[in-house]
Amino acid sequence: MDIQLFNTLGREKQVFKPIVPGKVGLYTCGLTVYNYAHIGNLRAYIFEDLLKRVLLYNGYEVKHVMNITDVGHLQSDADEGEDKMELGSAREGKTAWELSEYYTKEFQNDLKQLNIIPPDIWCKATDHIKEQINLVKCLEDKGFTYITSDGVYFDTTKVPDYGKLAGLDIEGLKAGARIEMNEEKKNKTDFALWKFSPKGAKRQMEWDSPWGVGFPGWHIECSAMSMKYLGETFDIHCGGVDHIPVHHTNEIAQSESCTGHKFVNYWLHNEFLIIEAEKMSKSAGEFLRLKTLVDKGYDALDYRYFNLGAVYRKHLQFTWENLDAARNAYRRLKNRVQELYNSIDEDEGPRGAEDEVAYRKRFLMAINDDLNIPEALAVVWDTLKSGMFDIAKISLLLEFDKVLGLSLSDVIERKKDVVPEEVMSLINQRAEAKKNKDFKLADELRNKVKELGYIIVDKKDGVEVKKLNS
Ligand code: AMP
Ligand code: ZN
Repeated sequence: MDIQLFNTLGREKQVFKPIVPGKVGLYTCGLTVYNYAHIGNLRAYIFEDLLKRVLLYNGYEVKHVMNITDVGHLQSDADEGEDKMELGSAREGKTAWELSEYYTKEFQNDLKQLNIIPPDIWCKATDHIKEQINLVKCLEDKGFTYITSDGVYFDTTKVPDYGKLAGLDIEGLKAGARIEMNEEKKNKTDFALWKFSPKGAKRQMEWDSPWGVGFPGWHIECSAMSMKYLGETFDIHCGGVDHIPVHHTNEIAQSESCTGHKFVNYWLHNEFLIIEAEKMSKSAGEFLRLKTLVDKGYDALDYRYFNLGAVYRKHLQFTWENLDAARNAYRRLKNRVQELYNSIDEDEGPRGAEDEVAYRKRFLMAINDDLNIPEALAVVWDTLKSGMFDIAKISLLLEFDKVLGLSLSDVIERKKDVVPEEVMSLINQRAEAKKNKDFKLADELRNKVKELGYIIVDKKDGVEVKKLNS
C-alpha cells in the first residue's frame, strides 16, 4: 500500500517514492543543547519517531541521522543576538562543552524514556567544522557569498527560487523581527554561513577558517551533516513548523546552490504543542520538561500516548486534564491487554482470521494516510472490542505497537515476572502433594493460591501461573 505524506514543499499530500527502492534516508533536526528539551520539543521527536516506525512497518530500511546543535544557534533564528550555548554557559557557570555534554545526555535520556528509537547516526555540529567550512568554500567559489565585518553571508537574491519551501514571497519572510537587523546585510533574508569571533573577546567555541577565527552559522551544520551521511539528495527531512521560514529555507538555498541539484524530496513539519494558547518556548523562561511530568507521577509513556491523540499537522493543546485523560486511556489499554493475556488459554482456535486481515488493513490505511495516528488508535480499541480470539487480538495489538511504541509487550512480560515468592512456595508444595498423591492437600493449596489472586493451570509438562483479573 502507498504511503501518503504531506510535503511542505508543494503543500500537498504526495505518494512517498524513495530514491532507492526499499530504503529511506531520514534527517531530523536535533536539539540545541543549551538547556533541557521542553515537552514541545519532544512532540517533534515523537512525531519523527512515529514517521520512522511507519516506514519500518511498511518494510523500508531507514537510515536516520539526527544532529546535535552545540554551536552557532543564535538567540534569533535570523543570526542576531548571542550564541545560545555561550549564554547558557554564562547562566550555569559551566563551559559550553560541559553544557553540551550534559544536555545531550539528558535529551537522549528523554528520548529513551519516550520509547523513541535512537537514530542510526548522531552527529554534533562541533565535530563537523571541516565539512561546514568546505561547504562555505563551495558557496564562495560559486559566487553566492559576501563578507561583512561580522561574518560570511549568503546572498539570497542569487537564488531565484529562494523561499520556495515557505511558500511566501520574500518580503513576507520577516527575518530578525525581534532583534535589530544587521545593517551590513544586503537583504533581510541573507544569513550567516560563518561568523567571526567578536573583536577582542575570546569565545569558548571558535575555530580557524579561511575567513578568520569564528564559528559556523546555524543552518550550515544541517546541510553539511545531512549530505555527508545521506548524500546530496535524500528522501525526508523533518522538524517543527518554526523551522520552515528560516532554518530549512536556508538549508535548501545553501545546499542546492553548492550541489546544483535538489536537496530533499519530502519535507515534513509538525505543528506546535501549545500551552495555554501560547507557543511554548524555552527562551521565554519557565518551561515544562518530561521530568516535570514524571515528578508529578506520570509515566513518560503517558505523554507519548497523549501525543498519539492528535495528527502531527494540527496544534496540540497541553493541559493537565488532557494529560490525565491520556493517562487513563493508556492504563485502560494496558489493563485490557493484561486481561486478554490472562484468558488466552480458555480461548484458542482458528476463529477470527478474517477479522485480523480487515483490522490490519484499516490500521495500515490510517498510518499510511499521512500518519493518521488517532485513527490508528481507534483501530486498536476496535480490535479489542472485536470478535477475534484473544490470542489473535494480542498478537495484532503487539504488531500495531511496533508503530505506536507503547511498550505493550512489557505489560505481559512484567506480569510473568511478578509471581510473589509466597505464591511460588505454595505452588511448589502443591506439586509435592500431587507427587505424593495427596490430592486433598493439592486442592487446598490451589485454593490458597487463588485467594492470593493467582490461578494454577495444569499443563502436560508442569503448571502455568496467572494473575487473576483485578
Ligand atoms: P530547537 O532546539 O529549537 O532546534 O528545537 C528542537 C525541535 O523542537 C525542532 O524540530 C523545533 O521545530 C521543535 N519545536 C520547538 N518548539 C516546539 C513546540 N512547542 N511544539 C512542537 N515542536 C517544537
Ligand atoms: Zn537543522
